[in-house]
Order: sequence, then C-alpha cells, then structure tokens
Amino acid sequence: MIQRTLVLIKPDGVMRGLVGEVIKRFDNKGLKIIGLKMVCIDKEFAAKHYTEDVAKRRGEKVRMMLLDYLTEGPIVAMVIEGVHAVNVVRIITGDTEPSKALPGTIRGDFTHHSFHYADGKEMSTKNMIHASANVEEAEKEILLWFSIDELYDYKKADEIFHYGK
Ligand code: ADP
Repeated sequence: MIQRTLVLIKPDGVMRGLVGEVIKRFDNKGLKIIGLKMVCIDKEFAAKHYTEDVAKRRGEKVRMMLLDYLTEGPIVAMVIEGVHAVNVVRIITGDTEPSKALPGTIRGDFTHHSFHYADGKEMSTKNMIHASANVEEAEKEILLWFSIDELYDYKKADEIFHYGK
C-alpha cells in the first residue's frame, strides 16, 4: 500500500515562483519526498515522458504541444512516497483541466483556463503539475526521471503517526 509516485512542477509553476507552495502541500499532507531536483529537458527526453499513450488519449497535436510546454524552462521533479500515494497526490493535484479543478487543489487554486482556450491558442493547457496516473505509470516515470542513487531512504519524524506501528 505504500506507493511511490512522480510529480513534476512544470515550467509555468517554476517560472511563477510556486515551487515552495506546491512542496508545502505534499509536506503538509504527511507524504514523504524521497527525491527532488531541478532539470531542463530537451524534446527527445520530453517525448519519452509524453509517449504515444498521451497521443492515443489526447491526440498527436496535444502531444506535440506538450513537448513544447515541458521544454519552456526548468522543471522541478520529485518522487513522493506514502500510503496510496499515487491517488492521494492526484487528488491534491486536481482535475487535469484547470477550469474544472476544485478550489483547494493545486490546479484549482493556481490555474483556471480550459482545454478549449488552450486549443484555440495552439498551446498545451498550462496546468502546472504532472502527477503519475497509476502505479504502473509511476514506476516507469520514476525510472525515467531518477536514478536509484537519487532516491533517499529515511524516516520522517511523523512516520509512526501516519503509517502506524
Ligand atoms: P494528466 O496530466 O492529468 O495525467 P493527461 O496525461 O491525459 O492528463 O494529459 C497530459 C497533459 O496534456 C495535461 O496535463 C495537460 O497539460 C495537457 N492536455 C491534455 N488535454 C489537452 C487539450 N485538449 N488541450 C491542451 N492540452 C491538453
């Protein structure tokens, strides 16, 4: 039940100075950050993250726009661990489409535009965050973004409170 998941603060989140705000929300929830770094990636790497699967779901045009989006500036990548972490992180992150994301979620509090607006502008929806969709995707994505020696095993002071004995 203790899972690991990948979170990316996309370039708009970094450039808007919201890195601390995002990290705080995962910390406050009692989740454990076990890997953290800032990286600039090229389109070749971005294509390994947003694979053909996204094209199948969202269309090839959206995929191409996503490759532009992820290479617009630095990304803060992190691996988060916790009980049901994949789903819990997705809940904190909020709906993919900013206009539908509820207040209290990251996307709900800091973004607002729609797919329709983004598509009209021929850009990807600037929704600030990526969070792995399921356990299988999380495993693949963590391996893509982090090497084993960039992930840290440590005990949080509040771990007994959150995880039980
Ligand atoms: P999620 O990031 O919630 O897992 P997807 O993997 O399906 O969602 O989509 C990847 C990203 O593509 C989204 O986070 C969003 O930035 C962008 N996106 C999805 N659909 C559209 C669209 N119709 N127009 C523009 N951008 C989109």
